[in-house]
Amino acid sequence: MRFHITFRSRNQKTGPMPVVTSSRDTCPRHCPLRDEGCYARHGPLGWHWTALDEGRTGHDLDTLLAHLKTLPPRTLWRYGQAGDLPGDGGRIDVEALDKIVHAQEGRNGYAYTHYLASPRNWSLERWLRTSTARENAKAIAKANAAGFTVNLSAESLAHADALAALEVAPVVAVVPEPGRESSETPEGRRVVPCPHYSSGRLRCDSCGLCARRGRDAIVALPASASLLNVVSVFALGGPALLRCRICSGDKASPRISAPRISPANRF
Ligand code: SF4
Repeated sequence: MRFHITFRSRNQKTGPMPVVTSSRDTCPRHCPLRDEGCYARHGPLGWHWTALDEGRTGHDLDTLLAHLKTLPPRTLWRYGQAGDLPGDGGRIDVEALDKIVHAQEGRNGYAYTHYLASPRNWSLERWLRTSTARENAKAIAKANAAGFTVNLSAESLAHADALAALEVAPVVAVVPEPGRESSETPEGRRVVPCPHYSSGRLRCDSCGLCARRGRDAIVALPASASLLNVVSVFALGGPALLRCRICSGDKASPRISAPRISPANRF
Protein backbone atom coordinates (compact mmCIF):
# COMPACT_ATOMS: atom_id res chain seq x y z
CA MET A 1 0.00 0.00 0.00
CA ARG A 2 1.18 3.46 -0.88
CA PHE A 3 -0.34 6.85 -0.25
CA HIS A 4 -0.04 10.38 -1.55
CA ILE A 5 -1.33 13.57 -0.02
CA THR A 6 -2.03 16.73 -1.98
CA PHE A 7 -2.29 19.52 0.56
CA ARG A 8 -4.13 21.90 -1.71
CA SER A 9 -6.14 20.13 -4.33
CA ARG A 10 -6.78 21.79 -7.66
CA ASN A 11 -9.93 19.80 -8.15
CA GLN A 12 -12.80 22.19 -8.87
CA LYS A 13 -15.27 20.02 -7.03
CA THR A 14 -13.38 19.59 -3.77
CA GLY A 15 -11.88 23.06 -3.76
CA PRO A 16 -8.37 23.68 -2.40
CA MET A 17 -8.52 21.16 0.41
CA PRO A 18 -6.15 18.32 1.33
CA VAL A 19 -6.86 15.07 -0.51
CA VAL A 20 -5.23 11.67 -0.17
CA THR A 21 -4.84 9.01 -2.86
CA SER A 22 -4.20 5.37 -2.00
CA SER A 23 -2.75 2.78 -4.35
CA ARG A 24 -4.87 0.39 -6.40
CA ASP A 25 -4.10 -2.59 -4.20
CA THR A 26 -6.39 -1.07 -1.56
CA CYS A 27 -9.43 -1.44 -3.84
CA PRO A 28 -11.87 -4.17 -2.78
CA ARG A 29 -12.03 -7.14 -5.12
CA HIS A 30 -15.81 -6.96 -5.14
CA CYS A 31 -16.08 -3.28 -6.03
CA PRO A 32 -18.51 -3.19 -8.96
CA LEU A 33 -16.46 -0.40 -10.55
CA ARG A 34 -13.14 -2.21 -10.30
CA ASP A 35 -12.97 -3.48 -13.86
CA GLU A 36 -14.91 -0.77 -15.58
CA GLY A 37 -16.65 2.44 -14.64
CA CYS A 38 -14.10 3.66 -12.12
CA TYR A 39 -13.53 7.35 -12.76
CA ALA A 40 -10.06 7.24 -11.24
CA ARG A 41 -8.62 5.02 -13.96
CA HIS A 42 -8.69 7.72 -16.58
CA GLY A 43 -7.12 11.07 -17.33
CA PRO A 44 -4.65 12.85 -15.06
CA LEU A 45 -6.02 11.21 -11.95
CA GLY A 46 -5.39 7.83 -13.58
CA TRP A 47 -1.80 8.85 -14.41
CA HIS A 48 -1.30 10.02 -10.87
CA TRP A 49 -2.72 6.74 -9.56
CA THR A 50 -0.40 4.71 -11.81
CA ALA A 51 2.59 6.77 -10.69
CA LEU A 52 1.63 6.01 -7.12
CA ASP A 53 1.27 2.28 -7.85
CA GLU A 54 4.66 2.22 -9.54
CA GLY A 55 6.37 4.05 -6.69
CA ARG A 56 7.19 7.15 -8.74
CA THR A 57 5.31 9.30 -6.27
CA GLY A 58 3.79 8.95 -2.83
CA HIS A 59 5.00 7.39 0.35
CA ASP A 60 4.30 4.76 2.95
CA LEU A 61 1.70 4.80 5.69
CA ASP A 62 4.00 6.25 8.36
CA THR A 63 4.75 9.25 6.16
CA LEU A 64 1.06 9.76 5.50
CA LEU A 65 0.43 9.75 9.24
CA ALA A 66 3.14 12.37 9.74
CA HIS A 67 1.54 14.51 7.04
CA LEU A 68 -1.92 14.20 8.57
CA LYS A 69 -0.61 15.38 11.92
CA THR A 70 0.52 18.64 10.29
CA LEU A 71 -3.04 19.55 9.28
CA PRO A 72 -4.55 22.34 11.35
CA PRO A 73 -7.35 21.43 13.77
CA ARG A 74 -10.77 20.92 12.21
CA THR A 75 -9.36 20.77 8.68
CA LEU A 76 -11.79 19.21 6.27
CA TRP A 77 -9.88 16.69 4.16
CA ARG A 78 -10.74 13.82 1.91
CA TYR A 79 -9.21 10.39 2.00
CA GLY A 80 -9.29 8.29 -1.17
CA GLN A 81 -9.83 10.53 -4.19
CA ALA A 82 -8.68 7.28 -5.80
CA GLY A 83 -8.24 3.98 -4.01
CA ASP A 84 -10.02 2.75 -0.92
CA LEU A 85 -9.39 2.26 2.77
CA PRO A 86 -6.17 0.47 3.67
CA GLY A 87 -6.67 -3.23 3.05
CA ASP A 88 -5.73 -6.14 0.85
CA GLY A 89 -8.75 -6.00 -1.41
CA GLY A 90 -10.76 -8.35 0.78
CA ARG A 91 -10.25 -7.36 4.37
CA ILE A 92 -9.75 -3.85 5.71
CA ASP A 93 -6.37 -3.39 7.41
CA VAL A 94 -7.81 -2.49 10.79
CA GLU A 95 -4.48 -1.53 12.30
CA ALA A 96 -3.64 0.84 9.44
CA LEU A 97 -7.12 2.36 9.51
CA ASP A 98 -6.84 2.87 13.27
CA LYS A 99 -3.56 4.71 12.75
CA ILE A 100 -5.12 7.03 10.17
CA VAL A 101 -8.07 7.68 12.48
CA HIS A 102 -5.73 8.43 15.35
CA ALA A 103 -3.41 10.66 13.25
CA GLN A 104 -6.30 12.78 12.04
CA GLU A 105 -7.85 13.28 15.46
CA GLY A 106 -9.17 16.82 15.77
CA ARG A 107 -9.44 17.12 11.97
CA ASN A 108 -12.45 16.43 9.84
CA GLY A 109 -11.53 13.66 7.43
CA TYR A 110 -13.95 11.71 5.31
CA ALA A 111 -13.79 8.81 2.90
CA TYR A 112 -15.97 6.56 0.77
CA THR A 113 -15.61 2.80 0.68
CA HIS A 114 -16.71 -0.20 -1.34
CA TYR A 115 -15.39 -2.65 1.25
CA LEU A 116 -18.93 -3.79 2.01
CA ALA A 117 -19.65 -4.52 -1.65
CA SER A 118 -20.76 -8.12 -1.92
CA PRO A 119 -19.36 -10.58 -4.47
CA ARG A 120 -21.12 -10.81 -7.80
CA ASN A 121 -24.37 -12.77 -7.53
CA TRP A 122 -24.25 -12.63 -3.74
CA SER A 123 -26.82 -10.78 -1.72
CA LEU A 124 -25.61 -8.32 0.87
CA GLU A 125 -27.18 -10.54 3.54
CA ARG A 126 -25.20 -13.56 2.42
CA TRP A 127 -21.97 -11.53 2.24
CA LEU A 128 -22.52 -10.14 5.72
CA ARG A 129 -22.67 -13.66 7.11
CA THR A 130 -18.97 -14.02 6.30
CA SER A 131 -16.42 -13.08 8.94
CA THR A 132 -14.55 -10.83 6.49
CA ALA A 133 -17.59 -8.67 5.80
CA ARG A 134 -18.49 -8.52 9.49
CA GLU A 135 -14.95 -7.44 10.40
CA ASN A 136 -14.99 -4.81 7.67
CA ALA A 137 -18.30 -3.45 8.89
CA LYS A 138 -16.97 -3.34 12.43
CA ALA A 139 -13.84 -1.44 11.34
CA ILE A 140 -15.92 1.10 9.39
CA ALA A 141 -18.26 1.66 12.33
CA LYS A 142 -15.32 2.08 14.68
CA ALA A 143 -13.67 4.69 12.42
CA ASN A 144 -16.90 6.67 12.27
CA ALA A 145 -17.34 6.50 16.03
CA ALA A 146 -13.80 7.83 16.44
CA GLY A 147 -14.39 10.88 14.26
CA PHE A 148 -13.25 9.80 10.79
CA THR A 149 -16.24 9.69 8.47
CA VAL A 150 -16.37 6.64 6.23
CA ASN A 151 -19.31 6.64 3.82
CA LEU A 152 -20.63 3.41 2.37
CA SER A 153 -20.91 3.67 -1.41
CA ALA A 154 -24.10 2.39 -3.02
CA GLU A 155 -24.82 1.87 -6.70
CA SER A 156 -28.52 2.73 -6.53
CA LEU A 157 -31.08 4.10 -4.09
CA ALA A 158 -32.32 0.58 -3.37
CA HIS A 159 -28.76 -0.48 -2.60
CA ALA A 160 -28.45 2.62 -0.39
CA ASP A 161 -31.47 1.41 1.59
CA ALA A 162 -29.79 -1.94 2.15
CA LEU A 163 -26.54 -0.34 3.31
CA ALA A 164 -28.28 2.26 5.50
CA ALA A 165 -30.26 -0.48 7.22
CA LEU A 166 -26.99 -1.87 8.55
CA GLU A 167 -26.59 1.31 10.65
CA VAL A 168 -22.85 1.08 10.24
CA ALA A 169 -22.09 4.39 8.52
CA PRO A 170 -23.60 7.18 6.44
CA VAL A 171 -24.35 6.28 2.84
CA VAL A 172 -23.87 7.88 -0.55
CA ALA A 173 -25.42 6.59 -3.77
CA VAL A 174 -24.48 7.08 -7.38
CA VAL A 175 -27.54 7.90 -9.47
CA PRO A 176 -27.90 9.04 -13.09
CA GLU A 177 -29.38 12.46 -12.34
CA PRO A 178 -29.40 13.68 -8.73
CA GLY A 179 -32.09 16.28 -8.14
CA ARG A 180 -34.24 14.95 -10.96
CA GLU A 181 -34.72 11.63 -9.28
CA SER A 182 -36.81 10.82 -6.28
CA SER A 183 -36.15 12.77 -3.11
CA GLU A 184 -36.69 9.52 -1.24
CA THR A 185 -35.28 6.03 -1.47
CA PRO A 186 -37.68 3.14 -2.11
CA GLU A 187 -37.87 2.67 1.66
CA GLY A 188 -38.52 6.36 2.33
CA ARG A 189 -35.08 7.62 3.37
CA ARG A 190 -34.38 11.24 2.49
CA VAL A 191 -32.14 11.78 -0.52
CA VAL A 192 -30.09 14.98 -0.81
CA PRO A 193 -28.46 15.66 -4.17
CA CYS A 194 -24.84 16.74 -3.95
CA PRO A 195 -25.15 20.54 -3.94
CA HIS A 196 -22.07 20.96 -6.09
CA TYR A 197 -24.08 19.63 -8.99
CA SER A 198 -27.53 20.81 -7.99
CA SER A 199 -26.54 24.39 -7.16
CA GLY A 200 -23.41 24.62 -9.26
CA ARG A 201 -21.75 26.75 -6.60
CA LEU A 202 -20.84 24.81 -3.48
CA ARG A 203 -17.64 22.78 -3.37
CA CYS A 204 -16.71 20.12 -0.87
CA ASP A 205 -14.52 22.54 1.09
CA SER A 206 -17.53 24.71 1.86
CA CYS A 207 -20.19 21.98 1.91
CA GLY A 208 -18.82 19.13 3.99
CA LEU A 209 -22.03 17.12 3.86
CA CYS A 210 -20.15 13.91 3.15
CA ALA A 211 -18.14 14.46 6.34
CA ARG A 212 -21.26 14.49 8.54
CA ARG A 213 -21.31 11.18 10.31
CA GLY A 214 -24.67 11.55 12.01
CA ARG A 215 -26.73 12.45 8.96
CA ASP A 216 -29.63 10.26 8.02
CA ALA A 217 -29.88 11.56 4.46
CA ILE A 218 -28.45 9.63 1.56
CA VAL A 219 -26.18 11.87 -0.52
CA ALA A 220 -26.86 11.35 -4.22
CA LEU A 221 -23.87 11.78 -6.47
CA PRO A 222 -24.21 11.79 -10.25
CA ALA A 223 -22.79 8.85 -12.13
CA SER A 224 -20.82 11.28 -14.20
CA ALA A 225 -19.48 13.23 -11.22
CA SER A 226 -16.26 11.36 -11.14
CA LEU A 227 -15.68 11.92 -14.78
CA LEU A 228 -16.30 15.61 -14.28
CA ASN A 229 -13.69 15.57 -11.53
CA VAL A 230 -11.14 14.16 -13.91
CA VAL A 231 -12.02 16.71 -16.55
CA SER A 232 -11.65 19.48 -13.96
CA VAL A 233 -8.29 18.23 -12.80
CA PHE A 234 -7.11 18.01 -16.38
CA ALA A 235 -8.21 21.55 -17.13
CA LEU A 236 -6.30 22.79 -14.11
CA GLY A 237 -3.02 21.08 -14.86
CA GLY A 238 -3.40 17.63 -13.38
CA PRO A 239 0.28 16.66 -13.50
CA ALA A 240 0.86 19.25 -10.75
CA LEU A 241 -0.95 16.82 -8.48
CA LEU A 242 2.15 14.68 -8.61
CA ARG A 243 3.99 17.18 -6.46
CA CYS A 244 4.07 16.77 -2.71
CA ARG A 245 5.94 19.54 -0.94
CA ILE A 246 7.35 17.49 1.90
CA CYS A 247 8.12 14.38 -0.14
CA SER A 248 9.73 16.39 -2.91
CA GLY A 249 12.20 17.86 -0.46
CA ASP A 250 10.40 20.96 0.70
CA LYS A 251 10.46 20.41 4.43
CA ALA A 252 8.61 23.61 5.24
CA SER A 253 5.25 23.19 6.86
CA PRO A 254 2.62 23.11 4.16
CA ARG A 255 0.75 26.37 3.98
CA ILE A 256 -2.82 25.38 3.76
CA SER A 257 -6.03 26.92 4.78
CA ALA A 258 -8.30 24.91 6.98
CA PRO A 259 -11.61 24.43 5.19
CA ARG A 260 -14.40 24.05 7.69
CA ILE A 261 -18.05 23.34 7.47
CA SER A 262 -19.92 26.59 7.43
CA PRO A 263 -22.93 26.60 9.79
CA ALA A 264 -24.86 28.17 6.95
CA ASN A 265 -24.28 25.11 4.83
CA ARG A 266 -25.45 22.46 7.24
CA PHE A 267 -28.17 20.17 5.99
S1 SF4 B 1 -22.28 16.56 -0.94
FE1 SF4 B 1 -20.83 18.21 -0.47
S2 SF4 B 1 -19.03 17.18 0.45
FE2 SF4 B 1 -20.26 15.59 -0.61
S3 SF4 B 1 -19.39 15.44 -2.69
FE3 SF4 B 1 -21.07 16.94 -2.79
S4 SF4 B 1 -20.09 18.96 -2.46
FE4 SF4 B 1 -18.63 17.38 -1.77
